[in-house]
Amino acid sequence: MSKLDGRNVLSRSSRHRKKRTLGKMFMLLIMLVIIGVGAFAGVKMLLNGDSLASASSVREDFVVTEVAAMGSAAKDKAAPTLYNGMKRKVVYLTFDDGPNVHTPQLLDILKSNDIKGTFFMLGENAKENPEIVKRMYDEGHYPGLHSMTHDYAKLYKSGGSKNFIDEFKEAQGIVNDIIGYKPTLIRAPYGSAPQIGEEFRGDIANAGFKMWDWTIDSYDWKYPGNPGAILSQVQSQLTEDTEVVLMHDREQTTQILQQVIDYIRSEGYEFEVYNPDQHFVCNFRHDERL
Ligand SMILES: [Zn+2]
Repeated sequence: MSKLDGRNVLSRSSRHRKKRTLGKMFMLLIMLVIIGVGAFAGVKMLLNGDSLASASSVREDFVVTEVAAMGSAAKDKAAPTLYNGMKRKVVYLTFDDGPNVHTPQLLDILKSNDIKGTFFMLGENAKENPEIVKRMYDEGHYPGLHSMTHDYAKLYKSGGSKNFIDEFKEAQGIVNDIIGYKPTLIRAPYGSAPQIGEEFRGDIANAGFKMWDWTIDSYDWKYPGNPGAILSQVQSQLTEDTEVVLMHDREQTTQILQQVIDYIRSEGYEFEVYNPDQHFVCNFRHDERL
């Protein structure tokens, strides 16, 4: 019997039953709609949650990519990133290849601005200039390490990490002999990438060192006689809340440092010195071991 046939033979009571059946079906439909809406809302929440998670991981990737693992910097420095209710913007000034004849002038400028810097010294230069190393340390700057020879072939072409680590241990010993403090933060000559691979980086970490590259390259070594170009470099690269600026103990750097400081300050940044107790990752490969 088709449904159509059945409709034709409906009695009054069967019509009444039909009404009740229709009523039940209507209730069922309402319930289905309610369940459907609930399920849709649930799925929507799940989707939203998922997209939020993706967004935050994308954001983290962005931070890590942009400022060399400053993502972990933000975590490690959670408390001090707020200052007077505002997000702190911090610059670490770093100076490589000293100490040398230009270093005292850099120290004078930093002192008059009440700024502590981070110096990555060559062991040989430290040995030749112990008074400068002492002054640097006494005035609150961080005495970082930058190898003994700065020789690309010696440091990177032997096929292993031994020469590199030996040079940094030697430099560490020299600085320790002068100031009685063993620095652990190093900077690889020419930067850590691409010449330092994953296993090499593990060896550096296992030797007890941390390694910083930089987020802003002032290219100061490139501009003798043209210090204004150094300022332009810093101006064009100063974008993130935490920046590590690469400079050198060079004459042109002493000529422009005050203006570099003035510019960075005018952009709302404070200056910090490397603090081993608040270490954060700043290397080109975002290697958390370093
Ligand atoms: Zn260097």
